[in-house]
Amino acid sequence: MTGATDRALVSALHGPLLEQTGAFRGNALLLTGPARVGKLGVALAVAAQHNCTGVRGMYGDACGGCPSCLALAAGAHPDVLVVEPRATTTTGKAARRKLIPIGAVLEARDKAREYETHVFEFLEVRPTFARRVVIVNGAEHLGPEAANALLKLVEEPPHGALFAFLAEDLRSVLPTIVSRSARLSVAPASDRALEFALAQSGAPADAALVEFAAGRAGVLSDHAAVTAALSSAAEFTAALEGGLLGALEAAEALEKSWDAGWHPEALRFTWRALPPHARAKADTALDALQAALEAYASPSLSFQVFALNLRDALGDA
Ligand SMILES: [Zn+2]
Repeated sequence: MTGATDRALVSALHGPLLEQTGAFRGNALLLTGPARVGKLGVALAVAAQHNCTGVRGMYGDACGGCPSCLALAAGAHPDVLVVEPRATTTTGKAARRKLIPIGAVLEARDKAREYETHVFEFLEVRPTFARRVVIVNGAEHLGPEAANALLKLVEEPPHGALFAFLAEDLRSVLPTIVSRSARLSVAPASDRALEFALAQSGAPADAALVEFAAGRAGVLSDHAAVTAALSSAAEFTAALEGGLLGALEAAEALEKSWDAGWHPEALRFTWRALPPHARAKADTALDALQAALEAYASPSLSFQVFALNLRDALGDA
């Protein structure tokens, strides 16, 4: 899905919220809401609002056609920096704990060169358009040193920069950040609003996708990956109804297409109609698979064990 369709989705789903953010004149916003509800999309729309030079939409949303809006849609806006916890370490293995370290804020402290752009250095430079915007995607993962360094910048932002802190749960964000930010919550949308937004963005109607999304606009933005995970989960589950050899082949196919971001949820969605005891067994098998993958166990063996355990669970249904 392109930046332009994302923009249409965000405006359709969060118009009234954008009305507030467009008029915001403070230094820091704290956007809270469930995972994938669309907080990043809203934050990018806010960055667009504060840099747009075109004619605004009905909610004061950005025009979508001016040089700033086009740069943002292309994912190459010079004034927008998204800071996120590192999902992988330099060795390429999955990180056991998510953290935004001080190295994300100060280049001199980024010994492992984990971050390409650092907040402090980014804010030293004047905005190319109107306002530099730093989006901290996962404010609950800020380490204490990183949070303290950021607070100084939030209090006196160089060149009037704007901070947007995103978090799932307000209670997990450091109180010093919460107290310096204007709080807004990003609420899940209704199924009808999601269907409407999907149509607005030019995507075909997809009832399963809307049901799976359960109000989370961020799911629609990752449309292709979600659809792929849903069909692979359905194929995998169906293959387990056959013989043992088919189950092992299905395990291999699942391992190849595995997307840790979407597959676990897509599998659970596929089992939603199973009787409770069978679903509980299936969930246990999936938890064991995820734990094995995180512990760097042999992936092919882990997927085979998962397929056999799940086959067993489905046999109980
Ligand atoms: Zn614009």
